This record gives sequence, C-alpha cells and structure tokens, in this order.
Amino acid sequence: MAYVITQNCCKDGSCVPVCPVSCIRPAGSPGEFTGTEMLYIDPDACIDCGACLEECPVDAIFYDEDLPPDQERFREINARFFERHPLQIHSQETPLERHGVKPGALRVAVVGAGPAACYASTALIGVDGVEVNLFERLPTPFGLIRAGVAPDHQHTKSVVRIFDHTFTNKRFECYLNVEIGSDLTHDELLAHHHAVIYAVGASRSRELDLPGNELPGNHSAVDFVGWYNGHPDHAHHVFDLSGERAVIIGNGNVALDVARVLLLDTDHLATTDIAPYALAALSDSRIREVVVLARRGPRDAAFSTGEFLALGHLPGVDVIIDSTDLATRPDDDVETVLKLQIAREYADRPSTAANKRIVFRFAASPTEVVGSDRAEGLRVATNGSPESELLTAPLILRAIGYQGSAIDSLPFDAARGVVPNEGGRVIDEHGQPVPGVYVTGWIKRGPRGVIGTNRNCAEETVAALLEDFHTGKLAPDVADPAGVRRLLSERGLSPIGWAGWRSIDAAERRRGAEVSRPRVKFTAIADMVSAANL
Ligand code: NAP
Repeated sequence: MAYVITQNCCKDGSCVPVCPVSCIRPAGSPGEFTGTEMLYIDPDACIDCGACLEECPVDAIFYDEDLPPDQERFREINARFFERHPLQIHSQETPLERHGVKPGALRVAVVGAGPAACYASTALIGVDGVEVNLFERLPTPFGLIRAGVAPDHQHTKSVVRIFDHTFTNKRFECYLNVEIGSDLTHDELLAHHHAVIYAVGASRSRELDLPGNELPGNHSAVDFVGWYNGHPDHAHHVFDLSGERAVIIGNGNVALDVARVLLLDTDHLATTDIAPYALAALSDSRIREVVVLARRGPRDAAFSTGEFLALGHLPGVDVIIDSTDLATRPDDDVETVLKLQIAREYADRPSTAANKRIVFRFAASPTEVVGSDRAEGLRVATNGSPESELLTAPLILRAIGYQGSAIDSLPFDAARGVVPNEGGRVIDEHGQPVPGVYVTGWIKRGPRGVIGTNRNCAEETVAALLEDFHTGKLAPDVADPAGVRRLLSERGLSPIGWAGWRSIDAAERRRGAEVSRPRVKFTAIADMVSAANL
C-alpha cells in the first residue's frame, strides 16, 4: 500500500521535503519549474508513513485504501509516472543559506496578495529580521485563490491556511485597499523600502480579434470567472444563460472550470462559496450543452489530465469527444498518453439523451461571432479544410489565457505581457538590473502553472533579492517606516490590516453558516470595508 497524490495537487511541493524516503517527484529546487502537471508518489518506494498527507495544504493526498471513488484512477496514474521515470534517489538538497538580518536593515514591499505574493512574503518572513509590508488594491487578500479557483474546488482554496503564520508574524504588515500607482506611487514605495517585489499577476484576458467581437453575449472567460467568484470588478456583468448551448474558445483548465460551472447541478453549487447573484442566475440557466473548442488536436490539449478525468465523474453530464485523432505515439510523455487514453474512454462511452453534455471539438478555429445586435453563434472553420460551420449559441466565452498589464515606472514586454526580468530581478532595456525592483508569479513568468508553482518562483526571486542585499546592491538607507502610513492618512486613506481581513472573513463565514455554505462573499468594496471595521 502507498499514499497517492490526486487531482487537487497544488504542486507547491510542501510534501517533498517531509518524505523520509524521497519518493515524490518531480522534486524541483528553488528556481526550477518542473514540467509536469502535478506531483506523483512512487508506490514501490513509499513506506506509508503519512508525513506527506499531514503536510499537503490542499488535502490532495490519500492513503491508497481511502481513495474516494472518483480519485481511484490516480493510483494507476502515480504508478505510471514511475514506470516511465524510474525513481532516482536525489542527494539531499542543500537548503538555501538564509542569514538573518539586523532589525530595520531590510524592509521589503510586496505588491499584490495572490499566491505569488503570499509565497514571496512567506519566504521573506522566513529570514530572521526581514520586515515585509504587503500592499493590495482590494480589501481582501489571496488573489486568484479567492477569485479564480472554481467554487467547486473548495479544497484548493484551503491552501491559504499555510500562510497564516506569515500574516500573523510581527514583522509582517498588510495594507489592503491600497492601490500602488494611484494611492501611492512606485517611487514613494521604493523610497520607504529597501526593495519592492511586484506580484500583481495577469488580470486581463488575451485578445482575440474576430469580426463581431463587440456583440453582447461574447465575453472573456476572465469576466465570467470573476463574476461567479464575486470579484468586485466583475460583479456587474450579465451573461445570457437562456440558450441551450454555450461555446467556450480554448481548452485550458479555465475552459474546463467554466464548462463545469455552467453545467453543474445548482444544488451542488449552493454548497460552495459561489457569488449569490451567480448562483441565482445559474439556477435559471437553460444551458444543456457546452462546446469546448480547440484550435489544435487532442494531443496538444491545454487542460491537465486530472481536470479532464474529473469531468467523467460529473453526475448527469456526458463528455463527448469530437475527434478520431486519439492514438498515442511512442514519444508521447506520460501525461499526454493518459489524456489520450481518457479521451478514448470518453469516446467509447454511450451517451444518455437526458444528460447535459460537454463536447470537445478539436482542430477548429473560430472565425466570426455571428449576430445582428447580439451574439447568435460562432462560425468555426475546420483546420486544413474549406469547411466552416455555425455553432448557434447566445453565449460565447473566450478562455484563451490571461495577460499581464504594464506597471507604472517599470519596463514592460508587451508581447509577452510580463515585466522583463532575470530570475526575478527586473531588467531595463539595456539588460541591466533596476536596483531594488523584483517580480514574481505571472507578471514574472507569464500566465502558466498552478498555485504551488508560485512557491519555487517566489523562492527564486527572494534568493536574488537577498543576494543583492548581502552584496550591497540595495539602497542602505530608506525613509522612516511610519512615512507610508502618514502619506496614506494625508490622502484620506485608511488601509485595512490583517485584523480587518479577519473581520471580513468571519462575517462572510457567518453569512455562510446561516445557509449551510462555507461563506457568502461580499462582492462590493463598500460592503467589504464596512465588514473590516466591524
Ligand atoms: P491556458 O492553459 O494557456 O489555455 C489557453 C487556451 O486558449 C489553449 O487551449 C490555447 O490554445 C487557447 N488559445 C490561446 N489563444 C488562442 C487563439 N488566439 N485562438 C484560439 N485559441 C486560443 O490558459 P488558462 O486556461 O487561462 O489557464 C492559465 C493557467 O492557470 C494554466 O497554467 C492552468 O493550468 C492554470 N489553471 C489551473 C487550474 C486547475 O489546476 N484546476 C484551473 C484554472 C487555471 P493553444 O494551446 O493552441 O495555444
């Protein structure tokens, strides 16, 4: 018997160092971004000690015999990884050298409060003496953990508990509801800190320039995800759920999240933290079919194996594979082989007329949003053929990935949507480091990877920052730490601290408890601010 890692793996690797027999792979070191979708346990080497299960922040690890029925397949998936990649025992990694610093010698501003910012703050607070001030434009922390992770993935959201000890550390201070660039400038921030790390993510949708793009009913999935998760910037959107079909462009994990939310039984959604208005709208939805459209073939599908497999367990939903190109090739990696195998299994399953459907279309490119005064459908061309087809649907969602936005006073690579950097050190147009300025997360490496990918990414950035500090590359003297609060107060701003967030959190949970839900979110900034001051 062995422990098994399942669908929910966040890949932050907390389990890796606690394994006494070092049988969890891939085991990356700081700065190394492993290519797989998740981590795996070698069943032959596992000694059943359970240390990994204790450490997993998202409850993704199960004892073999306790695997829930819908995760059983991961027993085979974990084992298969090691058939292709036999376990090599790594020599024990040398832990990063982290010399403490004198109190007041290194004060770092972290901008953003999503997973990248949380992991960066945690790495910094782990160094004795380092002080961290975190700035976030919303009154609530956690970025995409709160406003991106789908509501039916509540376990994934539980990762936030690993940051508790960081946010309650006396060297950590948090300034929620403060926007850098408007409430405080980059220069003011840098004047009061020895270094600044931007961890602002990538909050816009990539563009897709189609004729008819402007028609109502054609939206980005970024808007839809923000809407169902109660993000204050997206709470006002209205989606037409009155048709029987919706079409999603793109087949990454966001497309799968959106497809599930559109088709899930609302009794199930009602047990989650989905925004109340979204729950009400979805309860009246007439959508029965979601077409997930990909421009490439099944082998290149962007979704991850675990998320694809999970679709097969949705009650009352058939998964239809509209492709015959499902054969594997000898050079396919383990995850591609699995994806194709699962696709063949779906293709062989009989469908049930009464069920809802997720239809995967491949090698098909959208060419036009069709409609007169609103979207009525999407015209789709079959790649390599003159044929095209109109998929009628009043709702079209573009799930084609996120992109970062430029940050005031910083260089920006508009083509990649990232701030140019080397290992987290921001670099100017001559390739020279901009002193004291760093990036981590999606604004550093682009919009790829799951929550835990940010751990290695942040550790790489923090290691660069500490090296610069120890080699005298950071300004030794900065303005009085109370200056930031003074500036904000002169501007009539009252930042929300960690205690304020705890009040919001408690109020949301109380509202949730009244209706048997984990929380009922506030979705307007004014309501969040009132709850913070309760
Ligand atoms: P993604 O994985 O990059 O997928 C984007 C999809 O859009 C791909 O299918 C891509 O096709 C397609 N696309 C891009 N440009 C297009 C165009 N011009 N025309 C047609 N199709 C286009 O992005 P995502 O789904 O937004 O996810 C972002 C990251 O968050 C990923 O790393 C994902 O794994 C992660 N995430 C994880 C979870 C989870 O673990 N449950 C949930 C949500 C997000 P090509 O492949 O052909 O480029």
